[in-house]
Amino acid sequence: MSEGASFDVIVIGAGVVGLSTAFSLAEVGKRVLIFDRKGMALEASFGNAGALAFSDILPLASPRIMRQALKWLVDPLGPLSVPPLYFPRIAPWLLRFWRASWRDRYEASILAQVALMELARDESEALIGRAGLSHAIRSDGVLHLYENEAQRAAAQPGWLVRERHGIAFEPVAGARLAELQPGLSQQFVAGCFVPGWKTVSDPHEVAVGIGKAALERGAMLRIVEVAGVERAGVRARVVLSDGETLEASHVVIAAGAWSHHISRQLGDVIPLETERGYNTTLPPGAFDIRRQLVFDAHGFVVTPLSTGLRIGGAVELGGLKAGPNFRRSSIMLEKTKHFLPGLKTEGGLQWMGFRPSLPDSLPVIGPSTRSPRILYAFGHGHLGLTQSAATARLVRDLVLGQPAAIDLAPFRADRFRTWM
Ligand SMILES: Cc1cc2nc3c(=O)[nH]c(=O)nc-3n(C[C@H](O)[C@H](O)[C@H](O)COP(=O)(O)OP(=O)(O)OC[C@H]3O[C@@H](n4cnc5c(N)ncnc54)[C@H](O)[C@@H]3O)c2cc1C
Repeated sequence: MSEGASFDVIVIGAGVVGLSTAFSLAEVGKRVLIFDRKGMALEASFGNAGALAFSDILPLASPRIMRQALKWLVDPLGPLSVPPLYFPRIAPWLLRFWRASWRDRYEASILAQVALMELARDESEALIGRAGLSHAIRSDGVLHLYENEAQRAAAQPGWLVRERHGIAFEPVAGARLAELQPGLSQQFVAGCFVPGWKTVSDPHEVAVGIGKAALERGAMLRIVEVAGVERAGVRARVVLSDGETLEASHVVIAAGAWSHHISRQLGDVIPLETERGYNTTLPPGAFDIRRQLVFDAHGFVVTPLSTGLRIGGAVELGGLKAGPNFRRSSIMLEKTKHFLPGLKTEGGLQWMGFRPSLPDSLPVIGPSTRSPRILYAFGHGHLGLTQSAATARLVRDLVLGQPAAIDLAPFRADRFRTWM
């Protein structure tokens, strides 16, 4: 970095959200500096399931999930778990999650999610294309799978909500099911195919590709830990862990599951928690998967990637410090062996990642309460890849002083202050 270089925008975090934001700002001529303590896309953006899940408009906290969660929690290795030692820490978040499941908040979250997803659908392919990565998008949809009528019926209200919001899908069974995914276990009797859902060839490759495109347009990346952010008159100041400080016209906090450590210093106490997720990536050729498969009742998905077959999901509300429990990855792999007879399970790589999650399943996008020059872009939970380009667009609107493409009120940093 040249002596005395000055920057318009500093982006903290080189995950897919920070890199997309840096790219969008560099594209319009802003001088951008990215800080990350590890490098490009080495946390949640590294190993996710690669879905551009535009139809995923239902918040996790729903009247139905509260009943299902109680059943899931009985099994410590089930799709949802809370390690007992972490329970006291996460109890306030769980209380807000429960409040988010009430009908009024649930409906409000859906409307906000629909608006963000419509923007995501418009912006994602466009941004990935401008970064020279169109070849990395797969447009073969997703197939949700059900083992019996009870599972299908349980999912039905969600499909009706999607229908109301104009999302196309096709209920399938019999020969059509077998055509969409040959070789499935006979235990699957029904499915729902969503043609407008897309996946990427590999989420790490795509995030790094966007990051490189940002660097090609003049952005700079520095590997360093950020200790804090503060207001500096009409500008904003970043304090690095070695004490060095840098100022810019705007600072964007896109530090994923760690963002609240920084926002807290600005007086914004945001209930960000991590939903830890697990997977196994098998070598290419493990099974002939035609499109992403979702096993709704088991809380995990199978994704065909250029780098292999990724099997994973699950939610562990266990915080940022405890080590991974890879039995979770193994259990999803064992189940998949039954679901896809003939699956070659050898040679898999296990991974755990920290989803940055808020109780209402919506991210925080917009200014800090301390300064309009300090912007937040974090908390995308299960949908950070899907919503990264939309978030980048919104942050760019704010930096340029233009009206935001959608109403940002549901994504405000202080929205939880009035809860309960
Ligand atoms: C198992 C699993 C499957 C998923 N599947 C999907 C999917 O199919 N589709 C989808 O849309 N989403 C999916 N997600 C969610 C998605 O991965 C995340 O929402 C997304 O990656 C978050 O991106 P981010 O840039 O906000 O955070 P991250 O990728 O976590 O990046 C944050 C960055 O900030 C840096 N950082 C943090 N603190 C500091 C600091 N103080 N100083 C400097 N740097 C700092 C970190 O090093 C990191 O690089 C999945 C997640 C998991 C775990």
